[in-house]
Amino acid sequence: MTFERPNIAAMQGYTPGEQPAGDKAIKLNTNENPYPPAPAVADALAAVHSEELRRYPPPTASEFRQTAAELHAVEPDNILPTNGGDELLRLVLTTFVDPDETVVVAEPSYSLYPVLTAIQGCQLKQVPLEQGWNLPGNFSEQLQGAKLCILVNPHAPSGHLMAVEVLREVANSFGGILLIDEAYVDFIDPDKGYDSLPLVRELDNVIILRTLSKGYSLAGLRFGYGIGSPKLIAPMLSKTRDSYNTDLLSQRLATAALKSVDHARQGWDRVRASRKKLAAELAQLGMPCEPSQSNFLLCQVPHKPGAKALYQALKDKGILVRWFDLEGLRERLRISIGSEEENSALIDALREILGSTS
Ligand SMILES: *Cc1c(COP(=O)(O)O)cnc(C)c1O
Repeated sequence: MTFERPNIAAMQGYTPGEQPAGDKAIKLNTNENPYPPAPAVADALAAVHSEELRRYPPPTASEFRQTAAELHAVEPDNILPTNGGDELLRLVLTTFVDPDETVVVAEPSYSLYPVLTAIQGCQLKQVPLEQGWNLPGNFSEQLQGAKLCILVNPHAPSGHLMAVEVLREVANSFGGILLIDEAYVDFIDPDKGYDSLPLVRELDNVIILRTLSKGYSLAGLRFGYGIGSPKLIAPMLSKTRDSYNTDLLSQRLATAALKSVDHARQGWDRVRASRKKLAAELAQLGMPCEPSQSNFLLCQVPHKPGAKALYQALKDKGILVRWFDLEGLRERLRISIGSEEENSALIDALREILGSTS
C-alpha cells in the first residue's frame, strides 16, 4: 500500500544532471555559465544585513518586477518572479490545466515537462519533431482541443532556433496557452534579430519563461520569471504561487544582475565565440554538431566508441557531459560551452580517447 496519489506512484522523478561535490570536475553537463556573475551581484550580497532576514521579503518582489519590466519595455503587471524558471512551469500547469485537459510538448525537449504534467495528473501529448528539429507542418492541427503548449526556443537539447513567425502562427491558431521556454534566449546571435516580446504585447495567450540560471550565471540562486498578459500573470501572482515564493536574498541579487545586463552580455558574446570554435573543432574530430543558438552543442558520436562509452571515457578523465538514454539522442552527446580552458581540455581529452579507439 502506498500513500501516494496514483499518478505520483506511477511516475518517475526528474533526473538532474550530475552535480559532483567539490570543484575538480570540468562540468559541461548542465549548461551552467562558465563566467562569474556581475560584480554588482557580489556587492548586493555583501550589502545584505542578517538583521533584514528577520522580516518577510517583499511578497511580489516589486523591485525586481519593476527592473524586469524596464528591461523588456513592458509593465510590472506583465512580470511574475519565480523560484527558478522551473517554478513558472509548475505554476502554469497548476493554475491553468485541469486533469482531463491536455498539454502538448515537442519530442524531444526538456525532460522536466513530462514530469510536471505527471505530477499535475493531466494528459500529455508529445509531438515528434521533424528532421532539423522543426515542428511538423500540421502542428497547429495537433494542438486542437489542448489547453497548453510548451515549446522551448532555442530548442533543447539541439540548440535549434525557431522563428518568431512560427511561434506567432502557433499562438494565433491556438485556443489554449502557448508557453515559450526561453531559458537559452540570451545566447542567440544578435544578427538573428530574434524578439518574441511583441507576441506578449499582441496576444493574451502567450507567456515567456526567462531564467537567471544560464544567461546571468546564477543557477545556484534559483530565480526566473514569466512575461505575459495580466490575464495570465495575475492568477499566478495572487492565487497559486507560494505567498513568498522568492526570498529576500534572491530578489536583491536577481535585481542587481538584471541591472548589470551589460556585464552579462559580455559573457554571452564570449560563449557565442567559443561555441563557433568548439563546433568546428568537434566536427574535425568526427563529431558534427547541430547548428546551435544556445550555450551547448548536440553532437553526433562516431559508431566506435559510441556516445555512452564516450560519455564514460570523458567522465573517467574528470569531464562531465550529458548523455540521454532517449530515442533519437542515444548516439549523441550534449556538451555545454565552457570557458576557453575547459573547452581545450575537452578537445585534448577527445583526441586522446578517439585516437586510441580508432
Ligand atoms: C534551465 C532550464 C529552465 C529553467 O531552469 P531554472 O534553473 O529553474 O531557472 C527551463 N527550461 C529549460 C529548457 C532549461 O534548460
